[in-house]
Amino acid sequence: MNGEEYVESVIQKVTDKNAEQKEFLQAVTEVLHTLTPVIEKEPKYMKHKILERITEPERQVIFRVTWEDDNGEIQVNRGMRVEFNSAIGPYKGGLRLHPSVNLGIIKFLGFEQIFKNALTTLPMGGGKGGSDFDPHGKSDAEVRRFLENFMMELYRHIGADTDVPAGDIGVGGREIGYMFGTYKKIVNRFEGVLTGKALNWGGSLIRPEATGYGATYYLMEMLKSKGTDLKGKKVALSGSGNVAQFAAEKVAELGGTVITLSDSKGSVYLPNGLTKEMWNGVYETKAIKHGRLSDWAEKFGVDFYPGENAWKIAADHGKVDVAFPSATQNEINLDDAKKLVDAGTMAVVEGANMPSTLDAIKYFMDNGVLFGPAKAANAGGVAVSGLEMSQNSMRLRWTREEVDKKLHDIMVNIYNTGEYYSKKYGHPGDLLLGSNIGGFVKVADAMIDQGNY
Ligand code: NDP
Repeated sequence: MNGEEYVESVIQKVTDKNAEQKEFLQAVTEVLHTLTPVIEKEPKYMKHKILERITEPERQVIFRVTWEDDNGEIQVNRGMRVEFNSAIGPYKGGLRLHPSVNLGIIKFLGFEQIFKNALTTLPMGGGKGGSDFDPHGKSDAEVRRFLENFMMELYRHIGADTDVPAGDIGVGGREIGYMFGTYKKIVNRFEGVLTGKALNWGGSLIRPEATGYGATYYLMEMLKSKGTDLKGKKVALSGSGNVAQFAAEKVAELGGTVITLSDSKGSVYLPNGLTKEMWNGVYETKAIKHGRLSDWAEKFGVDFYPGENAWKIAADHGKVDVAFPSATQNEINLDDAKKLVDAGTMAVVEGANMPSTLDAIKYFMDNGVLFGPAKAANAGGVAVSGLEMSQNSMRLRWTREEVDKKLHDIMVNIYNTGEYYSKKYGHPGDLLLGSNIGGFVKVADAMIDQGNY
């Protein structure tokens, strides 16, 4: 069997075993295809059955979460944690609270996390978890009661040297606080078991900003490769949560114009960009009040387009230089990609995880659009989570400037790794292939070193 046949045979086996898990299969297909050149060149990966092993989680835990709502009604949700790969460090990856959560989505996120974490150069394995609990419209007490019950099972499986969860969609500072408090009460230990903690009890400066800032630093490297930067560029952002907020802040700081934001109900167009005052309003509406973008739009006199995605709204208004998806998976499909290319988009940088469908990615690449893949571009969040773990272990705290500099250096390094491997394996400039291979070889070699477990 040659390398290409081996890759196809593993994709087929994974498909047969996980037929229902479409997002997981999408992620596996994307990653494994780009690994073909390294599999061809290095027979050891086939010999040690690395692809079969790396696509099967080391452990998956699925559990019932029962909690009481404000009316005294019992509610039942499903919680899960997928501990995918611990070859280079403790499992590490976020927890997502969203009604769409199922095993296929958590497995796709956990699988991607393996390579992303390896790219940061920090010692972190890959994992992911969450629940189909919907935080929208829940009172603070309901969110707390849910999370206490969620942690009453999760605590058995995690620990500072075992598995260190963080935030993701629906999980920010408030949620991390409730989970940390519950964990500490159960195990009677104050330890760095979660990242994204508040500053006064073990958090790191720059962690909330890290994914958005990091993706913008990565974008700057992409633009630099074409001899340009963000000044005067029109940037279409999607989402208005943690990643989008801090991407918007950094893009504006570096001279770009943020022309769109969105949430699950619709999008806004900002002809003159996002001012500091408007940004403060977005932060207050989404991060503090957990409210709707439409309320923010009304307050600031901005048109809100219900049910429309950011790409259509941006392209309908004219030029779009950069697309910066920062909401959720598969939010840019082929039609959206065509609209963006027609609108003159020169770069796509993925703040969200797997926001572009496979055919959209292909369309961007075929049309010469610079493409910054999620597992490289949005690795800043987990990188600073890794730095939070280091600070917790050392019992000290670095300054804002120190952490920001380390984040910047890590993002430049991740970009250079993608570039290096894209050239080494004959596809110069293909950052998707280069980043996948760069993350893969580190993990795969560690798996071989550690034996056939
Ligand atoms: P948040 O919950 O803070 O924000 C998510 C945003 O996306 C909200 O504006 C939300 O709208 C919108 N959204 C969520 N689901 C959908 C959907 N199905 N359709 C349309 N819009 C949707 O999450 P984050 O900002 O933390 O995460 C955004 C993305 O970035 C995710 O893909 C996540 O996996 C990824 N990511 C996050 C990291 C982090 O550090 N936080 C690290 C790396 C990646 P609404 O408010 O209406 O729900």
